[in-house]
Amino acid sequence: MFWVDILQLTRTVTQKTKSKADSVMELSKMADMTKLHQAVAAGDCNSVKKILKKGICDPNYKDVDWNDRTPLHWAAIRGQMEVIHLLIQYGARPCLVTDVGWTAAHFAAESGHLNVLKTLHALHAAIDAADFFGDTPKRIAQIYGQKACVDFLEKAEAECRDHRQRGLLPDERDPDWDLKKRELELSLPAPNRNTNKKTKRIRGSTRLSHSKAWREVSGSQIRALMLSCSFATMPWTRPAHGLFLILFSAHVAAVSIKHLLNEQDHVIDGKQKDISEINLAAGLNLFEGDIVLPRTRNALRDPTRRWKFPIPYILADNLDLNAKGAILNAFEMFRLRSCVDFKPYEGESSYIIFQQFSGCWSMVGNQYVGQNLSIGLGCDHKAIIEHEILHALGFYHEQSRTDRDDYVTIWWDEILSGYEHNFNTYDDTIITDLNTPYDYESLMHYEPFSFNKNESIPTITAKIPEFNDIIGQRLDFSAIDLERLNRMYNCTSTHTLLDHCAFEKTNICGMIQGTRDDDDWVHEDSSQPGKVDHTLVGQCKGAGYFMHFNTSSGVTGEVALLESRILYPKRKQQCLQFFYKMTGSPADRLIVWVRRDDGAGNVRKLVRIQTFQGDSDHNWKIAHVTLTEEEKFRYLFQGTKGDPDNSGGGISLDDITLTETPCPKGVWTIRNISQIIANTVRGDKLLSPRFYSSEGYGVGVTLYPNGRINSDPGYLGLAFHLYSGENDAILEWPVENRQAIMTILDQDPDARKRMSLSMMFTTSNYQAINDSVIWDRPSKVGVYDKDCDCYRSVDWGWGQAISHQMLMRRRFLKDNTLIIFIDFEDLTHLNRTEVPVTAQSVNSRGLLLQAQEAPVLGESSGRAVTSLEALTSSLDQGQASRQKRSVKNTGPMEDHNWPQYFRDPCDPNPCQNDGICVNVKGMASCRCVSGHAFFYTGERCQAMQVHGSLLGLIIGGITGLIFLTFVIFTNTYQKLMQ
Ligand SMILES: [Zn+2]
Repeated sequence: MFWVDILQLTRTVTQKTKSKADSVMELSKMADMTKLHQAVAAGDCNSVKKILKKGICDPNYKDVDWNDRTPLHWAAIRGQMEVIHLLIQYGARPCLVTDVGWTAAHFAAESGHLNVLKTLHALHAAIDAADFFGDTPKRIAQIYGQKACVDFLEKAEAECRDHRQRGLLPDERDPDWDLKKRELELSLPAPNRNTNKKTKRIRGSTRLSHSKAWREVSGSQIRALMLSCSFATMPWTRPAHGLFLILFSAHVAAVSIKHLLNEQDHVIDGKQKDISEINLAAGLNLFEGDIVLPRTRNALRDPTRRWKFPIPYILADNLDLNAKGAILNAFEMFRLRSCVDFKPYEGESSYIIFQQFSGCWSMVGNQYVGQNLSIGLGCDHKAIIEHEILHALGFYHEQSRTDRDDYVTIWWDEILSGYEHNFNTYDDTIITDLNTPYDYESLMHYEPFSFNKNESIPTITAKIPEFNDIIGQRLDFSAIDLERLNRMYNCTSTHTLLDHCAFEKTNICGMIQGTRDDDDWVHEDSSQPGKVDHTLVGQCKGAGYFMHFNTSSGVTGEVALLESRILYPKRKQQCLQFFYKMTGSPADRLIVWVRRDDGAGNVRKLVRIQTFQGDSDHNWKIAHVTLTEEEKFRYLFQGTKGDPDNSGGGISLDDITLTETPCPKGVWTIRNISQIIANTVRGDKLLSPRFYSSEGYGVGVTLYPNGRINSDPGYLGLAFHLYSGENDAILEWPVENRQAIMTILDQDPDARKRMSLSMMFTTSNYQAINDSVIWDRPSKVGVYDKDCDCYRSVDWGWGQAISHQMLMRRRFLKDNTLIIFIDFEDLTHLNRTEVPVTAQSVNSRGLLLQAQEAPVLGESSGRAVTSLEALTSSLDQGQASRQKRSVKNTGPMEDHNWPQYFRDPCDPNPCQNDGICVNVKGMASCRCVSGHAFFYTGERCQAMQVHGSLLGLIIGGITGLIFLTFVIFTNTYQKLMQ
């Protein structure tokens, strides 16, 4: 499939160039650019003047290979007033548009050239002209955050309309575009509006009852305040309530449910806003709600739109600190579940720059430029960021699938007018379902109330009503999202999941019994009374296995060993998570060991890591053990019989997960959660015990089983607070720039399939009540809590973190137990992350090497191409500097990661386009693929070249000691990029 597509593309490129070559032979050309285009794009004012004077080029000539750009378009991108005046003087028309309807004003608005806009407006250009997708220059300026331009265009648009009303027509006719527009409309898949008009008429009768039902369910859900805005609201004071205490025990600590007295909390009583809502509020009307369409037609089907990993990224400094932390968190989610990986930008030509514009949006697929991905205010949630990154990876929305009308109903009458295009479907020439079923649970699905006129009436409902509460979930990737992601990118493994075992299969995941121990662990199922596994909590016949070591017979001190296979870490820190229970004697012990390399290549040196003692709590418990392995290793579980005479059971193990991620700092287990939800009312709360962050701050979580007093019914609320603690005297106060992450664990045995809820925010000195920062020392600004005999800060969080319905699904309440993780990490090092975009660098050894990624394919999209990747003269230096920079620029999760990564220069494979990586004296060397009609060139095989095209082709030399490559003169491109 891949090859066919490439060949077809090759053919079109060749044909196109040929026909143009016949008609304008007198022009020295690079593809289809005239000399004038080149001179303007290069900003060479003298040449522009000469060419125009001599009249050798038509100033209104459209360059087909650059989306029909005229010289004036290029001038508007560069913003060079002198060139603009020259072009206008020689007859350049401001009304001419590109193949998607962009005028010079669109380009100027995108690049923020206010003077250009003023000049165009003074010429009575139609400055309010919309492109093919309905975007005016003003909207483009909004998208790219060009404030001054937005303000100007606001006035200019009105003047433009006024101008028309007075019967003075602006110059807006582009006859060429009229034809193209029709062609474009036909070539894009039909929006299926006609078929839906039919349904609109017939559904009338069922409509009323339907929306009524929805009103009941939804209530006034959508009125959440964003956390960042909540400072503006007055501190929330609660009237006194009677004290209502239910005592119950959890294995961690006794906790109480209570109504607290007169406390000032900052808990948002609404639900988290979804993408469409945030973007609407930001005044955005993008293609499909949050997709910024590049100026070329692209498709998920198009293999050239796919990324090579790791994807270079820049975190712009206009992002909130919390957004930066949330983005790194989302990266970790991709690394845990797929082969998708990210790295800090180092001058590559394709990369993603995360910025804070208004709204949450992304482009679809790799645009081969520095492409923007906006994480605006309110978008800094893990799941929203994952959603936008999935767009960037090439995914459209689930409900834009061709077959979606079989699964969901779109209520066209209820959609805000002008936003109907968000509900278009696309045929299989554009999107592919990758042979997966329609997924109501997809992270890429709209929520029911997207773009609705009436806040309580949905615009999209599921044909299977049970899914109405599920569509639009913003927890995490669904199993099918991951299936698709892994299919699209041919992922066979993940980056950070080392091992996992639910013991459901007889081979027990390759774990082995010790050979020199006294006894064995037994692979048991849940069929016997009193023996229930954790994976399926005894719900299935013929399934539900776990490992058990009987401690009720034999002799004290007898042991049984269970040992993993050999594992190969990539990082330096791992977290071993497992569930266990000890039903025998309190003297029984479970010890976790690690077997390391003995220096001679054998994994045999034993190190004792952690011991778990028997206790009277016979429930399944979650355990986390931090490992710090850098070389191949095995982990071991050792069961020891403490007192067989007084033991009525043994030690059980289940659901093991070993990841290369940090273990959570606080783990709060709440048992009998369904009874707690049933026996409490809105406003009741549960306080976690105190946990300590890695720096030593006392932290805790407040759980509102039925939401806050002002929340809608049927929600669980979650908030964070500080506790005074033993280290307070030496800690830094107020504690700012720390990201608090509260995670409700989806207890699916497979960590890849978990859809845990993570809520996060970052502390700041702006979060204050009456001038006192709430994150100051709790003994100073907090209230005394007699349960912990300590001081506690106010609550900060969400009154409607997750609906009870969602909580009942999946494995949040497995074993009737809710597990909440809490982390509180310093993000200060992320305050400055933005790195300058490298324009271009020249090979120091004088070799004529200029590698260019992808635009050779006739691509020319996205923002004006910003950079070329320069070949470093020596791979040696390149690798060294890469390591250094990466270490410097990454977050805490990756600090220790990169040097490991590059130990093998071919892992990950730096070669693109199926190039084969060869390790030459410790350096990566790429052998590029070549075909009959094309071949790849560049240090990483990143540029595709076409045989026999008009592109000047010269076979280059050998780059130093390393590899053979082809060299191309891309003179014009070089100039363009300057
Ligand atoms: Zn989206």
